[in-house]
Amino acid sequence: MARYTGPVCKLCRREGMKLFLKGERCLTDKCAFERRPYPPGQHGQSRSKISEYGLQLREKQKVKRIYGLLETQFRNLFKKAERMRGVTGENLISLLERRLDNVVYRLGFASSRREARILVTHGHFRVNGRKVNIPSYLIKEGDTIEVAEKLKASEKIKENLKSAERRGIPEWLSLDAENLKGVVTRLPQRMDVTMPIEEHLIVELYSK
Ligand code: SF4
Repeated sequence: MARYTGPVCKLCRREGMKLFLKGERCLTDKCAFERRPYPPGQHGQSRSKISEYGLQLREKQKVKRIYGLLETQFRNLFKKAERMRGVTGENLISLLERRLDNVVYRLGFASSRREARILVTHGHFRVNGRKVNIPSYLIKEGDTIEVAEKLKASEKIKENLKSAERRGIPEWLSLDAENLKGVVTRLPQRMDVTMPIEEHLIVELYSK
């Protein structure tokens, strides 16, 4: 499937916040947003009034970019969230968090969701003992996610786990760092996501 392959730091500058798309670099002073916290391009520093539609669109783009989804994938997930019981916006955030690539990142096995997606696609993870190479796979309560045997000796995974200590593991996951294994102790809820997201703007946008 087609995927955005351009410079990812531009996405943070466009959305006006750090989206943490580059792993360790995002935490250093090399972060492009820290150095140039304004939109890219010739008119990046000029102020312009943003319409209601513009606000909704930017919020949707921001969340899409945080989780690394394309428009069709994002819209399909939104439709799924609409069909679920409860509040659509909260359901959407929960579904995004439940994606296998996100869970691999949240457990600290990858330094970014982008890296997690590559590792999953290459078949480096087992869910309940079975190989799953689909980044959009939705995990369920009680699932076990484990690094495949051949990757367990990888220094990169150990480095990632070390630097992920600063991020912390969300309450809905438990990590067995020694055996490179994680368990979904409960499904993620809206309150588990601390990034500033206004999901009601996305609901308004798609309800037009
Ligand atoms: Fe965004 Fe990370 Fe690039 Fe900073 S280094 S602009 S947080 S992707």
